[in-house]
Amino acid sequence: ETIGENLRRTVERVPGRDALVVRAQGYRATYRQLWNATTEFARGLMALGVKAGDRVGIWSPNRFEWVVIQYATARVGAVLVNINPAYKTAELEYALTQSQVSVLFLARRFRQSDYVGMLDEVRGRCSELRLALTLDDDWGRVLEMGQDVPAEELEAREKALQFDDPINIQYTSGTTGFPKGATLSHHNVLNNGFFIGEGLRLTDADRVCIPVPFYHCFGMVLGNLACTTHGAAMIIPGEAYEPRLVLETVTAEKCTALYGVPTMFIGELDLPDFDTFDLGSLRTGIMAGSPCPVEVMKKVIARMNMREVTICYGMTETSPVSTQSSTTDALEKRVGTVGRVHPHVEIKIVSPDTGAVVPRGERGELCTRGYSVMIGYWNDAAATAAAIDETGWMHTGDLATMDDDGYVNIVGRIKDMIIRGGENIYPREVEEFLHTHPAVSEAQVIGVPSLKYGEEVMAWVRKKPGATITDAELTAFCTGKIATYKIPRFWKFVDEFPMTVTGKVQKFRMRELAIAELG
Ligand code: ATP
Ligand code: MG
Repeated sequence: ETIGENLRRTVERVPGRDALVVRAQGYRATYRQLWNATTEFARGLMALGVKAGDRVGIWSPNRFEWVVIQYATARVGAVLVNINPAYKTAELEYALTQSQVSVLFLARRFRQSDYVGMLDEVRGRCSELRLALTLDDDWGRVLEMGQDVPAEELEAREKALQFDDPINIQYTSGTTGFPKGATLSHHNVLNNGFFIGEGLRLTDADRVCIPVPFYHCFGMVLGNLACTTHGAAMIIPGEAYEPRLVLETVTAEKCTALYGVPTMFIGELDLPDFDTFDLGSLRTGIMAGSPCPVEVMKKVIARMNMREVTICYGMTETSPVSTQSSTTDALEKRVGTVGRVHPHVEIKIVSPDTGAVVPRGERGELCTRGYSVMIGYWNDAAATAAAIDETGWMHTGDLATMDDDGYVNIVGRIKDMIIRGGENIYPREVEEFLHTHPAVSEAQVIGVPSLKYGEEVMAWVRKKPGATITDAELTAFCTGKIATYKIPRFWKFVDEFPMTVTGKVQKFRMRELAIAELG
């Protein structure tokens, strides 16, 4: 099945139900209206000369046009290239040239960023780019041009598509360095979206609040595709993440599910007027993207009413989800693990040194195989071969354990592991402990170079609003409760952490900044 065929089935089933609401734009569409909008735009794409396999870029924050373009490009067999809304000129040029985008749709601007101006600066060097159209000025014109394309032409195009055609290039978050372009098919993302929705027990009665960016798989697959495969409504607060707007949206739209990376939930829970929002409609949701602290999960369940919240683990390269906790898992499994393997995929945990599967309970690199593994990195056979082995296993670079019942715990990234005087320290473990301190809102732990020990532990801490705490007090708090060698030697109090636009803390940036500061 293709994405278009799947959407058509949902529309036939629930034509009058809400499909997409974008609060900031005042946009509301039922499934029938969304179908018509994607049909009109798909014909517009054909009028612009977009062929199957052509790369069509989208550079925009969360707006209704993003969703229409996502489904319209899939329906004409174009390869959608998601461009990170936080990119500046060098990164934009890289994405456009690396994936040879021929048609780009862009917002005129986003926050302080003048997208049109930035594109002008690099356009001369993007030789494949033949058209750049803004959502603000050119949308209506594309729809108008599409009226000249007979409906039968679009139908013929759709019939010729194959489920395993590439339809998407998604750049990874850039948490550990340079983003890589994962090439994904209808089959990859449509099935993953479907199984995620199954995991949440979504039905056409659900209304899913999606404050995470569409440009990333969290937004477009866990968000949009999980909804459209189940007839649920996609409820979008606004262009950029803003905790108050999220809770206002949940309250006003009676959302039944809410998504976010851990930092987003922390921001919402920390709002001084948190208690004034009515979150009684919430049932479920997803926390994912980076380690989900147990304390935060518990608060989300207790204070946000998300009793069936699940955690997902995955990566862009695997469409993205590989494990998900179940809405019926016991609390301790649901908050303390990333759940079990997703339907129709395999996972194994291997020794990074020997490649052999490690005994249950022991740490190793998580590998995954199945329908969800990407076609490959776009135009980068060497990187693809380094990530996916001859037998189809994707090596994730994540350290994990699996218990006897198959529940997986993500220990951290191989790249982030701290080795202090020969002892392996997993930052996650120290972070979890620091989160149990009442004055700590968020803690992030890194290794910094040390002559004596090779590496030393450093903690960055964001305090709760109004809380006072010193490094000596935090050291005393750790003493006797975690092994001495794990107690941070350096502390830094911050208001924010270096982040990707997907809301992930960039530890390589923290290390760079710490090294510059510590000298
Ligand atoms: P890059 O590959 O560019 O450095 P990235 O790996 O962050 O960035 P993504 O594909 O967006 O890019 O994220 C996948 C990674 O996010 C996983 O490999 C894992 O390290 C982390 N991750 C995702 N979900 C979870 C989770 N539930 N718990 C812990 N870590 C997670
Ligand atoms: Mg990665």
